[in-house]
Amino acid sequence: MSEVDKRESGVAAAGDWTYASAPESRDIVRIAERYGHFVGGRWLEATETYETISPRDEEPLAAVGQASAAEVESAVAAARAAFADGWSSLPGSERAKYLFRIARILQERSREFAVLESLNGGKPIKESRDVDLPLAAAHFFYYAGWADKLEYAFPNRTPRPIGVAGQIIPWNFPLLMLAWKVAPALACGNTVVLKPAETTPLTALLFCDVLRQAELPDGVVNIVTGDGRTGAALVESDGVDKIAFTGSTEVGKAIQRQLAGTGKKLTLELGGKAANIVFDDAALDQAVEGIVNGIYFNQGHVCCAGSRLFVQESIYEPLVAKLKRRLTTLRVGDPLDKNTDVGAINSAMQLDKIRELVASGEEEGAEIYQPPCVLPEKGYWFAPTVFTNVAQSYRIAQEEIFGPVLSVLTFRTPDEAVEKANNTPYGLSAGVWTEKGSRILWMAQRLRAGVVWANTFNRFDPSSPFGGYKESGFGREGGRHGLEPYLRFDE
Ligand code: ADP
Repeated sequence: MSEVDKRESGVAAAGDWTYASAPESRDIVRIAERYGHFVGGRWLEATETYETISPRDEEPLAAVGQASAAEVESAVAAARAAFADGWSSLPGSERAKYLFRIARILQERSREFAVLESLNGGKPIKESRDVDLPLAAAHFFYYAGWADKLEYAFPNRTPRPIGVAGQIIPWNFPLLMLAWKVAPALACGNTVVLKPAETTPLTALLFCDVLRQAELPDGVVNIVTGDGRTGAALVESDGVDKIAFTGSTEVGKAIQRQLAGTGKKLTLELGGKAANIVFDDAALDQAVEGIVNGIYFNQGHVCCAGSRLFVQESIYEPLVAKLKRRLTTLRVGDPLDKNTDVGAINSAMQLDKIRELVASGEEEGAEIYQPPCVLPEKGYWFAPTVFTNVAQSYRIAQEEIFGPVLSVLTFRTPDEAVEKANNTPYGLSAGVWTEKGSRILWMAQRLRAGVVWANTFNRFDPSSPFGGYKESGFGREGGRHGLEPYLRFDE
């Protein structure tokens, strides 16, 4: 059928779909001109500030504090005082009430948070609205439920809070990573000093308003903003008993070195280079949806992204054809538009990194495919990209790109799939697509990854532990396992 025939017969040809713009109003969000640090329940004027922008058009949004070591120390002192002054000895059922309140307020204010998240970070509003916010609230609900049941979670082990937790989070899921860290820490009776990533501080700063609304006692959660120097000061602080870090493997290694011998507890959730493995008996259209979700969700700024696609040789051609066709329907553009599938790249620095790795893929001999799409002129953008003809040794198959870039490789047998999938220094997640239940179990036992998804990808639930092997870090977040790093046991 020619394109004209298709139109006349009423069957839409790919590319016929155009959507009117459907921007979410940003009126619901009030951004202050300048923010300080949230210490002891009050705003502390920042001695030094920097500008945080929107990656969609580089619009300056606010001046936020770059916390010095002294400012970090005052936050740690406030957390220490709140720990000693009642929070750690409050009955679990009372702590739970605060967590439930925070969860409910997040639900009530979810549109406001979603708009701010998309403005400051660049992710599509439908993701912040339908994934980040519901999951952030769900984490507080979930850990609220554990707060008065710790003795049942760890029978005969007398669980006790550790003290002050220093928490450092990245820019890809700003509020959700805050929830992953703050909820279990508070449920276990600890107090917190949290540092959001320098490019995405605004939802963490708005969260301080939620803490006030929930009437959380002063100093239980303190938030200091700034770049890696602020993070390093928090790691170094003598008043901190535990560090929870999510970010790059490079910084994670530096933190581990810094903490060696100090007795401070540490959990690290670092990079990944996940294998998404499709067998020839898989439901191909469903697999294509999973592949797209696996790598283009949140512009690929996902540590567990399915960035290496392994396709069984016999279905390579039809699968890649379906995938490329599906890519032509992805809508790249304004994060605040409700129809957008792929938003803005988080920062100029990240865009440079993606460009550099994509150029290396082309130089090394891989074949690049990008669907036709018009990228906005202002802001930071990168088209969804697929590389075929990729060898395992290429940098695009080895290094974490943290962008909307997929490398396609092939395999013949299940053993070969396992061998290739495990051939990485990382071990955070993996996906398996097959109709055979026994093969799913066989693969899951052999894949060296903290999470293995079967016939789905990028699914998260507060009750399910998440974390890595090897250079993807150690310690688990989520589920009962996620309580353990925030407890000590008098055994
Ligand atoms: P990414 O490459 O994903 O930005 P980073 O590891 O650089 O990951 O950043 C993750 C978080 O770690 C951010 O909040 C950042 O400010 C912080 N950070 C960066 N360098 C350091 C450091 N030396 N010590 C502690 N935290 C740091």
